[in-house]
Amino acid sequence: MHSGACELLRRQGYQFVSPDASAAVKPCLWCKRSLRGEGMCYKAQFYGVESHRCVQMTPTLKCNQRCLYCWRSFEHDVGEERECSPDEIISALPGLQKRALSGYKVSPYVTPTRFHEALAPRHVAISLSGEPTLYEPLPTLISSLTDHGYSTFLVSNGTRPDVLAKCRPMQLYLSLTAADPETYQKVCRPIEDSWEYVQESLAILGTRRSAIRITLVEGVNDTDPAGFARLAQNSGATYIEVKGYMYLGYSRRRLSRNNMPEHTRVQAFAREIASCCDYTILDECPESRVVLMGRS
Ligand code: SF4
Repeated sequence: MHSGACELLRRQGYQFVSPDASAAVKPCLWCKRSLRGEGMCYKAQFYGVESHRCVQMTPTLKCNQRCLYCWRSFEHDVGEERECSPDEIISALPGLQKRALSGYKVSPYVTPTRFHEALAPRHVAISLSGEPTLYEPLPTLISSLTDHGYSTFLVSNGTRPDVLAKCRPMQLYLSLTAADPETYQKVCRPIEDSWEYVQESLAILGTRRSAIRITLVEGVNDTDPAGFARLAQNSGATYIEVKGYMYLGYSRRRLSRNNMPEHTRVQAFAREIASCCDYTILDECPESRVVLMGRS
């Protein structure tokens, strides 16, 4: 892997499975807040996933898109790397999580019970950064995680429907940030035109527990709720999550604070989608600017 990229990411808290691979773990902000008893992320509210027992990881940092809203840097891309085996990744997870959280053991805000729970995670969110379907053994990784007793969320950009079709996570997320090919090119900036592949991936969603994740970027992709409604309705996805873009990380070089919608704008967009299809609003979390929708 490119050593500059590796060093930069290490400084940002990434824990790598191996020095020559980009499979990595990084506890999210909510994992640490949950450890201190300061609340949990919206996935706890919507789906019952306890944030301090959730490992945020990726089997690869490679990606085939350059999304405007992505918080990662495209300037420090990963180069050649070795692909870790699923067994290598799974056996490394508890140790990496422990190393990342070890400093919290002495915190006066962290109870011994919560700390021990955090060292025995129950859930793996394959959603850190990079596109996980570019890691060929992804279906085996997910089924092995399930065999080891973890529940799994997989977040994909939908460009590899062939790999996605073989994956059986507890919940499959497809990021859909455009309702037409032109906006897709503008927002996701794929290395190759992948709009038709994304459509194939959408067709998989109706066959399993799934969610369409719409990252709403104000002034960029917030103009066609009917288009999103049509794609969701045809896909048969279990849920839609409409989530406001957050002005974070390297995305600040591509977008401005004005592209970050208020929660009221996210709510209004979700209501507009609901008026065009069978999905209704089930729940919301204003702090994370996210609205959950499901079929009525
Ligand atoms: S697909 Fe995900 S990792 Fe890749 S550029 Fe887009 S947001 Fe970033």
